[in-house]
This record gives sequence, C-alpha cells and structure tokens, in this order.
Amino acid sequence: MRSETRELPTAVESIDPATGEVWRRWPATSDDEVAGAVARARAAQPAWAALPLGDRRRALARFRRRLFERRDEMAALIQRESGKPAAEAMMADVITTLDAARFCERRSRQVLASRTMIPGNIALWRKRVTITHEPYGVIGIISPWNYPLLLPASSTLAALVAGNAVVLKPSELTPATAVRFGQLLRESGVPDAVMQVLPGNGATGAALAQAEIDKLFFTGSAATGRKVAEACGRRLIPCALELGGSDPAIVLEDADLETAASGIVWGRFSNAGQTCVAPKRAIVVDAVHDAFITRLEATAAKLVVGVGAAGSDVGPMIRTTQVDVLEAQLRDAQERGARVAGAARGTGHFFAPTIVSNASREMRVMREETFGPLLAVIRVRDDEEAIAVANDTPFGLSASVWSRDLARARRIAGRIAAGTVHINDAVSVVGMADVPHGGVKESGTGRVHGDAGLRECVREKAIVVDPFPSWRQPWWFGYGAEHARNIDAFARFWHGRSLFERLSGAWRSLKMLVSRERPI
Ligand code: NAD
Repeated sequence: MRSETRELPTAVESIDPATGEVWRRWPATSDDEVAGAVARARAAQPAWAALPLGDRRRALARFRRRLFERRDEMAALIQRESGKPAAEAMMADVITTLDAARFCERRSRQVLASRTMIPGNIALWRKRVTITHEPYGVIGIISPWNYPLLLPASSTLAALVAGNAVVLKPSELTPATAVRFGQLLRESGVPDAVMQVLPGNGATGAALAQAEIDKLFFTGSAATGRKVAEACGRRLIPCALELGGSDPAIVLEDADLETAASGIVWGRFSNAGQTCVAPKRAIVVDAVHDAFITRLEATAAKLVVGVGAAGSDVGPMIRTTQVDVLEAQLRDAQERGARVAGAARGTGHFFAPTIVSNASREMRVMREETFGPLLAVIRVRDDEEAIAVANDTPFGLSASVWSRDLARARRIAGRIAAGTVHINDAVSVVGMADVPHGGVKESGTGRVHGDAGLRECVREKAIVVDPFPSWRQPWWFGYGAEHARNIDAFARFWHGRSLFERLSGAWRSLKMLVSRERPI
C-alpha cells in the first residue's frame, strides 16, 4: 500500500545549524525505492538469520572497533550536522553507541538462547517445551535528529544481532550521520541488503511504515508516533514507539540545592535542550523555592552559548522552526504571568538558556513538550502536590527526584508515572546500554536498551513435544460418562479447596493421566 498523502520527492539536506550552510544534499528515497529496499532486505534476511549467532556478534565487534578508530571523524560529523558541542557528540552519541554494540555482543547469547521447560499443569507432565527466539524478519526503523547516531544505532544493533534485516529511515535533518553509520556496519561484514539506510523526509517514513516490514521501531514526536502506529495497526504488525516527554524534576527541601541546580541545568540545557528525557518542569517545594531559583539562574547564567570553540556549552537549536515554537511557548508563559530569566534569541538558531519561574499548570510550557533550552519552574506546597503536578501531563518518559532522604525519594519515585525515575540525577538512563529505556502514556510503548531491547527484536516461539508418540492424550475424544467423571475428578484434584477435596479426585486423575487407552 502506498502512502496516502504523498509529498513530492525532494532532496533532504545536511545543514550546519551554527551557520545555516547547506553542505550536502541527498535525494529523498521514493515510495518505489522504499518498497525495493524492503524486498531486498526480505530476500537477504534468511541467510543472515541462519548464520551462527557468533558470526553476527563478531560483525558487531568489528563495527565497534571501526567506530572507535573513527570516533573523532564521527563526532565531527555529528557536530556539523546537529550543532551539538564536540564533547556531547563524543559522549552522548559515539561512546553510548560503542556501549550499545558491546552490550549486544555480550548479552545476546544469554538473552536469545532457547530454554526448555515442563508446563506447570500435572496433566501435561509428558510435554517438553522449548522456547526459541526468532527474528521478526525485516525491521523498519524511523529515527529523529537529536541523537543522530545513538538513536538509530541502539535499535539497529539489537535488531541485527538477533538476525533481522534493517531498513533505516533517519531524520531528514541528520541523514549524513546515519549514512556513515550504515557504511561502518557494512564495512564490518553486515551484508548490504541487511543494513540499508534510506535518506528521506516524512513521506519516506510514511512509505516505510506502510511497506512490507515485520516490525517498526519509531523514535520521534507523539504526533508522528500516532500516525505510524495507525499504519502498523492497519497491517497488524507490532511497533515500538519512543516518543516525547515533559519530564518533571521534583526538588525537595532536603535536597543538596547546589547539586540539584547543576544537575537540572545540565540535564535541561545540554544538547541545547533538545533531549527527550531532559528535565523540562522543575517542581520545587515552597521551603526552598526561592533559594533554588537563585541558584538555578546563577548556574544557567554561567553557560557559554556557541559551538566549536573549546568551552562552549550550549550549541544552536536544530532549525528556525523549532526556535519559533519555543518562542511561542515562552510568550504564552509571559502573558500568563511567568517571570523569565535569560531568554534571548541569538543569531541563527541560537537561543540563550532560559528559566521560566512562577509557572502555572495551564501554561504551554507545563502542558506541552518544550524542545529547546527552556526550563519551567513551578512552586508546590509539599510532596503530595509535587507528585500531582509531576503526573499532570500526557507524557511519562522519565523523571527525577532530588533529596538527601533516599527512602523518601524512592517512595515518590514509585508514584510517578514514567518509564524511568532518576534520584539525584537526570537524563543518564539513555546512556545506559544495559538498562531498559522507554515511556508510559503518550511517551510511548516498548523498550530500547537492556535485555528488554533485545527481546523487542524477536518473537518467542514454543515447540511443544510429546516424547511418547504412541500415547493418545486423556482429553481427546471418547466423551462418555467415564470421561466426564475423570475430568471432574481432575478438577477436584488440581484445584480443590481442601486437602480432602483434592485427595478425593487423586486416584481417578492419576489413573487417567498414565492410562494409554482411549476409546477413540
Ligand atoms: P518527528 O516526529 O518530527 O520525526 C521523527 C521521524 O519521523 C523523522 O525521521 C521524520 O522524517 C519521520 N516522519 C515524519 N512524518 C512521518 C510520517 N507521517 N510517517 C512516518 N515517519 C514520519 O520528531 P523529531 O522532531 O525528529 O524528534 C523530536 C521528538 O522525538 C521529540 O518529541 C523527542 O522528545 C522525541 N524523542 C524521543 C526519544 C525517546 O527515546 N523517547 C528520543 C529522542 C527523541
């Protein structure tokens, strides 16, 4: 089936967000090319899946070595295409991707291993069940621009090691990083048709979601996530959705305020505020609210805006349109009585770190995802109100609680609707290759990273074996009065309310279960 609203195929561009320079154009992949890529992937996947797991793990190990050797080149490419500081490109994209590869190499043997079991119901005592893990086949991956290497890589590496072929549609804003990632995998021994990268825009993504794939991994906004989930629903194929967030950061009166201010400022303003799991709403209890705002504003004021030069902390936002949305959200807050520190639109896509205090629940900065260097701060009475405000959002990606009392922070963590809750830290879960990451509510379904991320790439299949080929089963036809008495005896034996009731059915049940005779 073709995409319903087809944009004209256009080029997508690699642009330096700091200067606006277009430094590379890529033709957008057409619907027919998407279908062709998926067909090639389908033809190539069985041979890839048939390789011993060790061969696929070794391909990932070669990829890891290649990426490590080319880490400076890759970080420079990411910086040029996304505008983030070099240190962030190295730490949050390159090193995290190396970790993801190492995790898949090391854990796949255990997580993807078959296991054998005997079912729990005694009537099934003869069965031997083997649970195997089969790759889906062709996995489509659609990814955003904010972590242009890590986000496509973490799903791709798990999918490949599990024996799937991957067709990746990266963001139209960061195609070069994804194309280079695909090259490194192919240079490491992954066949061309098993790892394909299709530069393109939203229409290319729509074509991939509607193509003959077996599962879709989507990372991006909730609005687009809904569309791809609908496309997958029409074909009844599964999709894993990693969507937006409006993460709360609860600051309690016993928090170390200096550390909390540094952590929240880093979490919010690194990657120019364009991080799904960034703390976007600071929820501060009344007792320390004013002191905390003073520290937040002082810390944020020290950040150096710029890119490239050593010491610059906050790079440009990715595109003018994103700056416009942030400005509109900020204006709404100002009109509703917020106090603003720091906001200033610089040249190009630069925007100074901005603290919006005196925020209230109905403001757009509290209700919507803010995807830029803007932190909203709201005052609350106590823990109960903090939890209520934290959960008053359609999103549920991650959260943080800042307190010296870890038991109290854990209790609060248990009541926040989110995929992850950090205590005295923020954001770091996305850098943990071995810890599952994902959201609840409109932040998505499914998990990446960790064992759960590997399991997202396979179907469990049960092989049920009866090792006594000439024994018929006690519940097969032959439904006479004797059979009915046997079945009732078994119900009493297996689920009776008292020992007496259970024993009353035992003899007849055991006789039935070991008998080889059946009338039919
Ligand atoms: P987006 O939804 O605009 O685009 C994401 C991808 O979807 C892009 O590749 C785009 O080309 C493609 N796309 C657009 N329209 C499509 C359609 N109709 N069908 C199929 N694909 C289509 O998101 P974005 O602006 O690139 O990324 C920012 C968003 O991603 C934020 O909301 C952020 O919070 C979220 N995000 C979430 C996570 C997570 O792990 N949960 C991680 C990073 C980013």
